Amino acid sequence: MRVARCWYPLLLTHAIMLAIAVVSPSLSAQSAFPVSTDSITRRLMQRISALSADSMEGRRAGTDGSRRARRWIVAELTAIGAKPIGASFEQSVKLPTRAGADTLGANIIARIPGRRSGGRTIVLSAHYDHLGVRNGVVYNGADDDASGCIALLTIAERLLREPPDHDVILAFFDNEEGGMHGSRTFVANPPVPLARIAIDLSLDMISRQDGKALWVTGTAHYPFLQPIAADAASRATIAIRFGHESRTVTPGDDWTSSSDHAAFHSKGIPFLYLGVEDHPDYHQPGDDAEKIDPTFYRAAVEFSYNLLRVVDARLETFPSRTP
Ligand SMILES: [Zn+2]
Repeated sequence: MRVARCWYPLLLTHAIMLAIAVVSPSLSAQSAFPVSTDSITRRLMQRISALSADSMEGRRAGTDGSRRARRWIVAELTAIGAKPIGASFEQSVKLPTRAGADTLGANIIARIPGRRSGGRTIVLSAHYDHLGVRNGVVYNGADDDASGCIALLTIAERLLREPPDHDVILAFFDNEEGGMHGSRTFVANPPVPLARIAIDLSLDMISRQDGKALWVTGTAHYPFLQPIAADAASRATIAIRFGHESRTVTPGDDWTSSSDHAAFHSKGIPFLYLGVEDHPDYHQPGDDAEKIDPTFYRAAVEFSYNLLRVVDARLETFPSRTP
């Protein structure tokens, strides 16, 4: 459990806890990880600790914490050399009106140019918002979905060194938790024509090994994606399972509409969603970086990267869509 930063008078004990949380959120989180892990894993965990720190105040859409998270992601994108599509990384997102809060949020959109730029495009997406602060407690959302956001940054770094054939759009969506307004805004006002978007690879909750597997959802809706995903899965160092979609489960266990890929699916755009089973910290204050299994998370990011490369290599074999 984390103590929220707030401005009303605090009891002394709360003030001491607050001071510790404000001064050293990332230091205390980092020290929980084994120092012997390799540099890639260490970087993943440092970044996920930063984005899910108490100072981000749970990244609820329309809040100061959300703006702070946005600035952090844009700074990371700039540092690795990623570029926006237009003049700005930000795409405004209209949020449902809440008393005392902004009515505007923003998606963060970047583009990695492919060697054959201008044709079919891959969207790689995650949502950076989470649940904010409730009753003075910060919901940090490390797995949900800082894990997807840091995967995007890590994969982007590698794609900038080893360019894909096709353009890749990185989409960090706002307000998934409040009704998927970010991804709905994106498909309503896409930065490239929807006809060019061949697939959405949607990463949401990929870092916890409680369920002992990473799930891939989408191949029952788009069967031509099955051999592509199976190819990447054959090289994974964690268990990859297929399902959680309408043709394979009971309705309550169907993840077809459980995250931002739903907006793409609604437009007939194929998707593959990657995520873990719900765990005891799902939508709880305990969804902290310290609960992540660094080895599982690194393997999940590696699988995500490999999946993107296989998709990129076979993108021209995708069936054409009629708008
Ligand atoms: Zn999520």
